[in-house]
Amino acid sequence: VTAAAAPSVLAKAAIVAVGSELLETTKVDTNSLFITEQLNAVGIDVVSKHVAGDDRAVLTHVLRSALAGVDLLVVCGGLGPTDDDLTREAVAEVLARPLAEDAALVDQLKRRYASRGLSVPMPLNNLRQAMVPAGGVVLDNPNGSAPGLWMDHGAQAVVLLPGPPRELKPMMRELAGARLRPRASGVAIVRRMLRISGRFESHIDQALHPLYEEWAAASPPIAATILATLGQIELHLSVRHASREQGAAMLERATAQAVGVIGEDVFSTDGRRLEEVVGDALSSRGLWLAAAESCTGGLVTSRLTDVAGSSRYVGTSIVAYANEAKTSLLGVPEALLAAHGAVSEPVARAMAEGVRSRAGADLGLGITGIAGPGGGTPEKPVGTVAIALASSDRTDARTFRFFGDRELVKFQASQAALDMVRRHLRAE
Ligand code: ATP
Repeated sequence: VTAAAAPSVLAKAAIVAVGSELLETTKVDTNSLFITEQLNAVGIDVVSKHVAGDDRAVLTHVLRSALAGVDLLVVCGGLGPTDDDLTREAVAEVLARPLAEDAALVDQLKRRYASRGLSVPMPLNNLRQAMVPAGGVVLDNPNGSAPGLWMDHGAQAVVLLPGPPRELKPMMRELAGARLRPRASGVAIVRRMLRISGRFESHIDQALHPLYEEWAAASPPIAATILATLGQIELHLSVRHASREQGAAMLERATAQAVGVIGEDVFSTDGRRLEEVVGDALSSRGLWLAAAESCTGGLVTSRLTDVAGSSRYVGTSIVAYANEAKTSLLGVPEALLAAHGAVSEPVARAMAEGVRSRAGADLGLGITGIAGPGGGTPEKPVGTVAIALASSDRTDARTFRFFGDRELVKFQASQAALDMVRRHLRAE
């Protein structure tokens, strides 16, 4: 009798996403983000990610190199029935295990096919999905036909998951809870993200410097990373802790410290986006917001109405792109347009006040700018945007100068407009 060796601890993982469409310009590998989240939650670090096209030689090469130096390899996609689905074959080759048809899987595939009531017999190709590398454990796929596979390979483990996110997610969740958690170190990686507006990355970095030192010296240490994204800065905090709850409590304190230093420029500490923060603030005060949008073409209203429940605070918005529309729909005086130009604070104010009174709203936003690439002048270059916010007692206006192409200028303008509303409501 030989004692079973204790299963090795899974600490480091690599992810391989398979699919030629992921190498093109329209499809992004989002599965690996979900897989990472699930692995981190049980304390497994992702040390490399790879995307491989549907090519046998490329795939075996990528699998070999991804597998080197990790405890766990997660491969997603390419498990379907067609000839370009090569994951099974490539993994079998790399692990040097013959593929064999699994009788139970053949039955299951036949039953699944029959239940669809089609008049033609099941294509033979479908049987590819019943091929299992020797020693592989089949993982149920309640949402599709391609099963997942688990293989222990010496001290390493390899797992194959189907590509469609709605099939992969439940399988990955189940896998993390049932198979990975007991094999992982038990140290959870807890994360928290703060979102900040109206400051430069370097300001934030400087302001947080003393805290970085304190966090790095904590036990266990808290890691902090600053990321500048479009129209906002993100501060990512993470800690590896044997207790998820205690790790979360450490990050709760660190979050409060960061807010103490940065103040009201922090608009979110719980993952909410700016449009949600603004929506919640309007909703809790029972206020209505109306927007008059020129250069943003409705983007502010679109973002606000992306949030479920926005009918509680968005009633009317007007896209007034042409000067005549600003005059006829919002009552912006022609003389004002002639005197200051459409992109000016006086016009933004008139738009904000016009839409507020016409909509009968509590707050009115006016946004007018030059999104480019044409239309800029030395005095008002591309990216110049005037934004005004009208309330019952006053109208504030600001002129911004944004960088980037048309889409970036539009997004930053929508971000600045929403942020003006947020700050106004905070100050109330
Ligand atoms: P199927 O049985 O559906 O063929 P599969 O395992 O072969 O499953 P793929 O054919 O590779 O999966 O992908 C199916 C769908 O899932 C496609 O729409 C694809 O774009 C999407 N998908 C695949 N991989 C990813 C990924 N890494 N991130 C996001 N979507 C993905």
